[in-house]
Formats: sequence, structure tokens, C-alpha cells
Amino acid sequence: MLMKDVPTDLYVGGTWGSASDGGRFDVLDPATGDVVASVADGTVADAARAVDAASAAGKAWAATAPRERAETLRRAFGLMVERRDELANLISLENGKALSDARGEVAYAAEFFRWYAEEAVRAQGSVATAPSGTNKIMVLRQPVGVCVLVTPWNFPAAMATRKIGPALAAGCTVVLKPASDTPLTALAVAAILEQAGVPAGVVNVLPARRSGAVVSAMLHDPRVRKVSFTGSTEVGRVLLREAADRVVNASMELGGNAPFLVFADADLDAAVEGAMVAKMRNAGEACTAANRFYVEAPVAEEFGRRLAERMAALVVGPGTAPDTQVGPLVNEAAVAKVDELVTGVVAAGARVLTGGKRPDRPGFYYEPTVVCDVPSNAAILDEEIFGPVAPIVSFTSQDEAIAAANATEYGLVCYVYTTDLARGLRVAEALEYGMVGLNRGLVSDPAAPFGGVKQSGLGREGGHEGLLDYLEDKYIAVDW
Ligand code: NAD
Repeated sequence: MLMKDVPTDLYVGGTWGSASDGGRFDVLDPATGDVVASVADGTVADAARAVDAASAAGKAWAATAPRERAETLRRAFGLMVERRDELANLISLENGKALSDARGEVAYAAEFFRWYAEEAVRAQGSVATAPSGTNKIMVLRQPVGVCVLVTPWNFPAAMATRKIGPALAAGCTVVLKPASDTPLTALAVAAILEQAGVPAGVVNVLPARRSGAVVSAMLHDPRVRKVSFTGSTEVGRVLLREAADRVVNASMELGGNAPFLVFADADLDAAVEGAMVAKMRNAGEACTAANRFYVEAPVAEEFGRRLAERMAALVVGPGTAPDTQVGPLVNEAAVAKVDELVTGVVAAGARVLTGGKRPDRPGFYYEPTVVCDVPSNAAILDEEIFGPVAPIVSFTSQDEAIAAANATEYGLVCYVYTTDLARGLRVAEALEYGMVGLNRGLVSDPAAPFGGVKQSGLGREGGHEGLLDYLEDKYIAVDW
């Protein structure tokens, strides 16, 4: 059931309203397939209105005192923390994730507002004497301008605040297009920002099922200066091409195919614990999810056994039920994809240690699954599984493990378990990834630069680096 005060209309120019053609679309509860809300379906005309509003608000917002922007974000942090349970329920309802995961997401999401409240007053430029000694080199940092933000369904709150926080701190105004599976959380975040005192037009939220047309129209509007996208590599490539037409500044947080390396000298208890976090946070529906496990031969059997034992003990059920540890996947297509990957690898000779099928219940569920003896050319090692499935491959040398880990177009995050710290750091250096969890199954931290290399993305979110993504350097050559 939907909470009464959750908005379901477009938020443009500080007012809530219908789409220009009156269109709406349904949001489903993945645990039952039932409709939980009907949300206004933004059109290309609404996108133009949203850019009008963001553009009109831009100058004044960029000129506010950084301290004022900081305090507005700090208030938004406080309100999110206050409404943590309500927001967590909403996330579970439209995304399906277990309430414990949803509460974790709200805390993580709110931290981006607190971190960027602190960063808003740290957008320093610099002054230096030119090497020739003839003039000064002054660098000012200025907001990029109107930003289009596009977010996925798997972290509906955190992916929004990870972009809105730094954009507002930098003095930019934004139009957010949330994923159509999970627009309610983004609208609830907009209501919180409104309550925190964000002026009209600074943040606009435009759910839209025709995302291609709506986002494309905005990227071709001369007032739009930046696109920040989180989602699949496939759609990221499309948006990069669109952005090229007007040379729009682009930040991309794309897909991953995270390897999880366990060396024979690892603390196996810690490795299994880390594997559970890296694999099962959000039921595996995370870009950071461990997608393939490479375990050194002498401990591979034991690691598989222990991981399977932990996975088999997880409570699967509706995200909103209090004891649930693994909720349903987001939709039928997600379950079908996971099932196809598992069926394929089993047909190719892999052994199922636990799970391996859809449970016999309605809703978009898949059993927590561990498969071992996975052939190195299996599709499951190349594609983002985005579900609760852990394929295990054993290796015999460090070089072999590094080569297998790097043999992918992706480069978001990888995990390494070893008690030999020098080896861990050497391996981390050799891995072609934007982030490495060294004896850690979780890397996400609002204070750290999150992002990928290769086809996992461009730019960083979080940390001081995340603020810089929304600022342009202006160099002034001064003679005084
Ligand atoms: P997706 O690429 O299908 O959709 C992401 C967003 O783009 C949604 O809002 C969607 O409506 C919109 N979209 C889809 N087609 C579009 C188009 N042609 N033009 C403009 N917008 C379009 O991704 P998803 O299924 O929502 O999310 C899962 C993907 O996101 C996974 O690949 C995952 O790895 C990735 N992801 C990456 C990160 C990261 O930080 N690197 C974080 C979370 C998710």
C-alpha cells in the first residue's frame, strides 16, 4: 500500500503537476506484481518546461552564498534521516529490496547531502605565479550550469542524491529523470528538498516512460550543459553519442562485472563474509555486485561449501516483511535473464551447490545460488548477472587470476582477499578497475571517489572529486 503523502506528479519549477498530455504510468510492487501507484508520465514538452525552470533558477542559485547552499543540503540530510523508515518502506515497495537493504540505502543516500553540505564551501580555485614570472595564473571554479541527471532503479534514493548533492553544492540546477520502475523515491526526495528550502526550479523531477525522447530533447537544448548518467553501459553509449552533438559535459556511471579474488592465504571467514556483502547486498542488483569468484585451487572447494551454506540460510521473501534478507528482483525480465544464465552454465557442466532455480511462489524471485566448476568461457562470467547468483572458478597462479579479472570490457570494482598486504597492494595495482576492495566486500562511501574505468564509466561521484564533476575551471591570466 502506498503512503498517502508520497507525490506522484511531476515536480517542475517548484510546483507539482500533471504531464502536458495528462499521461500516467503504473508502478508495480515486485513482490506481488500489483500496481502501487500511477505516476505522471513526462513528455518532451514537460522536459522543455523543466529546462526552462532550471535555466531560470540557475543564475540566482549559482550566486547564493556557498554557506547557504551548504545549510540547505544539511537540512535535507536531517529530513532524510528523520524520514528514514518511511523512505525505506517506499524503496522496498517499488524496488523490492529487503527493508534492511532499503534502510541501509536511505542512510547512504542521506550521507551524500551531508557530505556535499560540507563540500559546498570547499570549491576553491587557485592563484600561482607563471613559470616565466611575468603574470599570475588564477583559476576560478564555477558551476557547469543546467544538468540533466538520469538514474537507475536499483538504488532509487542514493543514485539521485549522489548527483543532486554535488550539483547543488557546486551551484548547478538540475532536471532528474528517474527510472520508470522506481520514480516514487525520487519524487519523495524532491519533496524533502522542497521542504529543506531548495528554491523553485533548482531541482526538477521528471518521471517519463519515453525516456529516450525526453532525455534526447534535453541534451539538444542549448541551455543544458551537463548530463550525469547512472545505468547500463548500453544506454550510456547512446547518451554519449547524444551528448556529442552539442559537446555536452558527460559523467557516466555504467555497468560492472566485478571479480572477487580469494587467495589461498586469505582469512576464509572474512572472505565468505565479504562475499556475502559483495554478492547479496540488494539481492545482487548492484553495479558493484561481485559477479564472478576466482578462488585459488587449494581453498576453492572449502570457500564454495561455506558460501553455499550461508546463501542457503538466507530468508527469501517480500522486501517489506521484517525478517526478509533477500527480496524479489525488480521485474520478470530480470528473473528470466538470471535463470537463462544459470541454466546455460549448468548445461555447460557447472555444479550447483545451492539454489539454481526460481522458487515456487508468485512474484519475481530467484533462489540464492552458488555454482562451481564454471568453465572460463561461460556467458555468466561476461555478463552482469544482476541477481543472487555466485559462479566460482578456481585458479592456480596470481598472474592467471589477474588476467582473468581484467579480461572484460568493464572496470568498475573488484575485490581481493589475502592476508599478505604487500601482495594485495601489488594485485590491486595490476587490476584495471576504478575501485578495489582489499579485504573488504563493500567500497561505497560518500567520502570516496566512486567510479569506473574502461566501459564502466567516466568521472567520479562522491568525495571531493564528485564536486569537481559539477564545476568548470576558468583560468584568468592576470598581470597586476
Ligand atoms: P538502464 O540503463 O536501463 O536505465 C537507466 C536509466 O536510463 C533509467 O532512468 C532509464 O529510464 C533511462 N534510459 C533508458 N534508456 C534510455 C535512453 N535511450 N535515453 C535516455 N535514458 C534512457 O539501467 P537500469 O536497468 O535502470 O540499471 C541497471 C544498470 O545500472 C546496470 O547496468 C548497473 O550496473 C548500472 N548501475 C551502475 C552504477 C554505477 O555507479 N556505475 C550504479 C547503479 C547501477
